[in-house]
Amino acid sequence: MSALQAVVERRGQQIFGLVDQHPESIFTKAGFYQKMMAFSMRDETFKVQMFRFVDVLASLRRSGDIVAHLREYFRGMDSFIPMLQTGLRAAGIFPWLTAFILRRNVSGMARQFIAGRDGADVMKTLRKKRKEDIGFTVDLLGEAVVSEKEADEYAARAMELLETLARETRGWTDPLGKNPELFPVVNLSLKISAFYSQMDPAAPEEAIAHLAPKLRPILRRAKEVGAFVNFDMESYAQKNGTFDLFKALFTESEFADWPHVGIVVQAYLRDAERDLKDLIEWGRKRGTRFAVRLVKGAYWDYEKIISSQNGWVCPVYLQKPESDACFEACTRILLENEAIVTAAFGSHNVRSIAHAMAYAEELGIDQSRFEFQLLYGMAGPIKRALVEMGYRVREYSPVGELLPGMSYLVRRLLENTSNEGFLRAKFSDNLSPAQLLRDPKELITPEKASPDGQRNGYHSAAGFSLDTPPGDTYENAPMVNFVHRQTQEQMKTALREVRGRLGRQYPLTINGEKVTTGKWMPSLNPSSPNEIVGSVAEAGIPEAERAVSAARAAFDKWSRTSVEHRAQLLERLAAIMERRRFELCAVEVFEVGKAWDEADGDIREAMDFCLFYAQQMRILGRPRITQHVAGEENYQHYWGRGVALVIAPWNFPIAILCGMVSASLVTGNTVIMKPAEQSAICGALLMEMFEEAGVPKGVLNLLNGDGAVIGEHLVNHKDVDLIAFTGSREVGLHIWKAAGETRPGQRELKRVICEMGGKNAVIVDSDADLDETIVDSVYSAFGYQGQKCSALSRLIVLEENYDRVVERLLAAAASLRVGNPQEPGITVGPVIDEAAYQRILATIEAGRKEATLAYQAKDVPKEGYFVPPTIFIDVKPNARLARDEIFGPVLSVIKVRDLDEALEVANGIDYALTAGFFSRSPANIERIKAELVAGNVYINRSCTGAVVGRHPFGGFKMSGGGTKAGGGDYLLQFLIPRIVTENIMRHGFAPEETPRYRDEFLVRRPGSTVVEK
Ligand SMILES: Cc1cc2nc3c(=O)[nH]c(=O)nc-3n(C[C@H](O)[C@H](O)[C@H](O)COP(=O)(O)OP(=O)(O)OC[C@H]3O[C@@H](n4cnc5c(N)ncnc54)[C@H](O)[C@@H]3O)c2cc1C
Repeated sequence: MSALQAVVERRGQQIFGLVDQHPESIFTKAGFYQKMMAFSMRDETFKVQMFRFVDVLASLRRSGDIVAHLREYFRGMDSFIPMLQTGLRAAGIFPWLTAFILRRNVSGMARQFIAGRDGADVMKTLRKKRKEDIGFTVDLLGEAVVSEKEADEYAARAMELLETLARETRGWTDPLGKNPELFPVVNLSLKISAFYSQMDPAAPEEAIAHLAPKLRPILRRAKEVGAFVNFDMESYAQKNGTFDLFKALFTESEFADWPHVGIVVQAYLRDAERDLKDLIEWGRKRGTRFAVRLVKGAYWDYEKIISSQNGWVCPVYLQKPESDACFEACTRILLENEAIVTAAFGSHNVRSIAHAMAYAEELGIDQSRFEFQLLYGMAGPIKRALVEMGYRVREYSPVGELLPGMSYLVRRLLENTSNEGFLRAKFSDNLSPAQLLRDPKELITPEKASPDGQRNGYHSAAGFSLDTPPGDTYENAPMVNFVHRQTQEQMKTALREVRGRLGRQYPLTINGEKVTTGKWMPSLNPSSPNEIVGSVAEAGIPEAERAVSAARAAFDKWSRTSVEHRAQLLERLAAIMERRRFELCAVEVFEVGKAWDEADGDIREAMDFCLFYAQQMRILGRPRITQHVAGEENYQHYWGRGVALVIAPWNFPIAILCGMVSASLVTGNTVIMKPAEQSAICGALLMEMFEEAGVPKGVLNLLNGDGAVIGEHLVNHKDVDLIAFTGSREVGLHIWKAAGETRPGQRELKRVICEMGGKNAVIVDSDADLDETIVDSVYSAFGYQGQKCSALSRLIVLEENYDRVVERLLAAAASLRVGNPQEPGITVGPVIDEAAYQRILATIEAGRKEATLAYQAKDVPKEGYFVPPTIFIDVKPNARLARDEIFGPVLSVIKVRDLDEALEVANGIDYALTAGFFSRSPANIERIKAELVAGNVYINRSCTGAVVGRHPFGGFKMSGGGTKAGGGDYLLQFLIPRIVTENIMRHGFAPEETPRYRDEFLVRRPGSTVVEK
């Protein structure tokens, strides 16, 4: 055993000895909270329902609602939890009493972790703690701000709290009486995200420019009154921004000599050691002492989920001992740099605490020169033990009302019941001190330790069968994570480079040849319409004819090219897109006005289409037995349909085009692709990439031109067998009709894959979580200027919630960043072109006569097609605003009595594309799942952002033909099924077994050329 480990064990045993003199009460078996915790640790389902119930309770106002939720959440569980049985029975007889008791119990539970409602209230707690020689850092709850109005209110409350603390603690002295200059009595913990509602990880400079002026008055005042200010650390997305802000502010001359500032380092992050060293380096240069609170981190589950959803490298360690070991490594760094940094160890883990004590002793650092910080309401006996051992203890004391405190409460409940947490291990599972004091490095399982850079995927690409849902066998391409400075720089560089190349000309591609026509169609930058992004050759009827002939001629060979060969073409294309990813994003920013992350989402989706369809076609491409029957072999397989015409919109300029083209190609069709005029350059780049990937000549042909001319000609063409269209209802219905007519010489009945618009509704229930509702609704309505077919257009709000929703919604919309999307962090950019601009403004004008225009942004750029985000309220369900697709940043809010009416309004429309619901009532959620009429129904999240494989996308009614892009059955639309039956019996003898799959039927047709395998 090392000398250090021996001291760690001695200190640890000493703490345990003292702890055992005052047994921990929160894990004993009496009382509501204790019972809840005990049940939660025994039963995972109960735990989930319990924490969800706690989460919704504070927002319920009526007794009947509380009782209804109680029943919904705990249905079926009363048999094994007797207390519930009694509660539910009583609820039937005395709902008000049950509601009252529940509220009181849950409030009691919250009060256990929340030190006071406001400044005055918290002082009672702080005075009590002072008598126990425990200091404080106060944290103001309510950090989930959705608007600048709320952020300003939060800042005002923080200032008020500071004043109260300073006033009420005058004359208080340091509990240890040693080195008090390092540890001011008043200590305020700030959550930076609460001061700015539009913080975007891609735009740290912008966040600093916005946050610094808001924080300076509080910092100035803190400095004046001799208080200490700490910046808490939140999710990984905010981490770099928070560090940058800290360094920027405290380097300013006004604050550069102020030692009473601190920041949190989270040891569960793989970045922790590097960040800490950077910080110390900065501190040295600054030349003034500062502080670091070292913690493991409060958002472990969240980080794991978010990174897995986006295909990112998981930023947190995946093994608990890895976090513990990192905490100790950071402890050593902090103590070794004690000359410049004051350490605060934020942990309830006796091993982590004892290690800090032991290492400080080894370095000869006096125990009054650092402190231990613990959370209010937790680990009381440990705090007491530390005080008794003569260490400085500070309690993190949250202040606020119950409602904003709920997410904090749930985090604490999770922490206390976590399988891997120290508190549970010690106080509930009663592990021995020896076990609890082991060196975490020895507990790391090397083979499980995920190396840096490994993605946090949970799908296995191997081992799937045809019965596995397609999404489960497919791992999506990752999103670019703009949290990282490197990706921000790559995007900025790409924007510069693409800007330098604007104005290039792109020919048509027909039968592998580059074709110009003497006519050029310019594509303009909607943010700055004088800027030509590029020009494309304009095709006329002769070029359309040549393209059809080329595609027709190429079909025979291509349709008999092996599936594997066709699938690999798509995979090569995806790899090229990955290589050119930032460049493609930059082109989208210029050509269609997409914000950075929206542009990246488009490229990611395009890559996903390629990879997903390649994978799906490998499954479909193998002739598969239909039924095992003696003496006969029956195999089903597929052929391509023929020549596909792909007509795509501009709003997902690469993804949708690429999706329809790649589906056509991988299924063995040859293609004429016609990008939208407004996004012709994106189309030209896609062609370029397909060529690089090796698409044979004639198999893919690029035509640009006027849809009314060449589009119309091709739709009616006898040699076009399949039309894949995404766009407006008007054009879609026209194509549907025209395709129904059979022309002389036509071989096939034309198949139309038709995706049109929507008038998407989101319903807000009376118990919805409004923080989530507002953020997601604003994003769904105004992200990419409302120009996604999935965008929210009708917000249907139950009257009980209406006023609160409207108030917060308007304020949130008013906080959105509108501007040129070349800048990072912009949410609302320009609409696509002059025609859209004029049409949307006219719709808004007309809307004023139908409903109340409650909000319209004022400050939008003068140049470019910037339509101000606009919200109408009190819109009648039958108003044109509520029925016609607008395709712009205009949201209609409709008030309804109840869920019945909400469903009637939501469903009473021509379209059925996307729809959403915000609610915390399990019964209502079940009802919506069954009754909301839309192709994609989203519950408690935004109604945009479908992911390939996960959310196959597409609608019905007047939104489309019911096909699902990115779904397991999408490719079937592009295929003709065939059954081949062979009698395998010869004179009464037949093989006993018939294989489930067989090789493709690839032998060439008469007249065709060589088959490529
Ligand atoms: C005073 C104070 C202030 C705090 N301020 C912040 C803050 O600003 N920001 C913040 O994010 N957190 C903060 N925390 C930390 C957080 O809220 C938890 O209290 C803390 O992480 C619990 O760690 P522990 O050492 O007490 O317990 P332990 O039981 O030893 O550790 C639990 C922690 O280990 C990590 N963990 C759990 N499972 C795994 C796993 N499978 N793999 C890897 N790691 C795992 C998680 O971080 C978890 O919280 C603060 C904590 C305190 C005491």
